[in-house]
Amino acid sequence: MPIIATLLAIMTFPALAGEKTLNLYSARHYQTDEALYANFTRQTGIQINRIEGKEDELLERLKNEGANSPADVFLTVDAARLAQAEQLGLFAPVKSRILETRIPENLRAADWFAFSTRARVIIYNKASVNLAEVQNYEDLAQPALKGKVCSRSGSHPYNLSLGAALIHHLGEQKTEEWARGLVANFARAPKGGDTDQIKAVAAGECQVALSNTYYLVRLMRSEKSEDKKIMEQVGVVWPNQKSYGAHINVSGGGVLKNAPHKEAAIAFLEYLVSDEAQTYFADGNNEWPVVASAPVKNQALESLGKFKADTLNVGALAKNTALAQRIYDRAGYR
Ligand code: FE
Repeated sequence: MPIIATLLAIMTFPALAGEKTLNLYSARHYQTDEALYANFTRQTGIQINRIEGKEDELLERLKNEGANSPADVFLTVDAARLAQAEQLGLFAPVKSRILETRIPENLRAADWFAFSTRARVIIYNKASVNLAEVQNYEDLAQPALKGKVCSRSGSHPYNLSLGAALIHHLGEQKTEEWARGLVANFARAPKGGDTDQIKAVAAGECQVALSNTYYLVRLMRSEKSEDKKIMEQVGVVWPNQKSYGAHINVSGGGVLKNAPHKEAAIAFLEYLVSDEAQTYFADGNNEWPVVASAPVKNQALESLGKFKADTLNVGALAKNTALAQRIYDRAGYR
């Protein structure tokens, strides 16, 4: 390498001189991530060792490894899970002007950062539900929907995060009343994942449910005729557009407290907020980038259109998830 190029490389990443590997624990496993990691290695010379696993398994592994963990960065989904990692003291505080300027304030917590977003929307059966009755999360607890609602488990992080947002907007008591009303409206006991709820709505087993947007987009992009039929049956509502906006959840991550390669870890997070990386990162799971300037290259996702999103800070939101669990327990939302 010519001397000038060497100098430039050293000046660009002065702290990385001795750090040529990065150990990444990731709950993500999407095809577009390959390009994401390859680009980072090309730009920095840092090789990424990836450990992939399910969200809860990786968190358990980090806990068990403790101070001996080789992990530098932890990537996972859902604010409640990220908050759990934070409460366990797994993350190191990170000061980065790049992360602070690129990621909107409401999508950063004390020790972790969101890199993509998804919304929790209302799905309804177009043939049997009056659209005016399913405009808000609160409507799902109204007597008008008796016997019509289906849901995945109340203990699932997606529903706990929604409950946490409701606690912020409505208060503890109203959220408990909401949970009781919701349970009273169930067409069946909670089971399955979000896609199962969408299918049940399409099949008429129930009429209304909640789903994260990327499950919808996955069905919209599917070539299978049964998936196309499902999407013909169901309508999608952006909830609470006249009040606090649709509940937003995130994929995100942070640098681990015992990271052996801290500078490389920060460089990786900073890379994830570049326009190019944002597009790959978000599209891998049909989500929206957190950086406004990053292009969305996903027709199905874009076809969902614009909406008013809840601007509640993800860190503040996540602090309410333990209370949301207690409220759901009292309300019998299992
Ligand atoms: Fe999911």
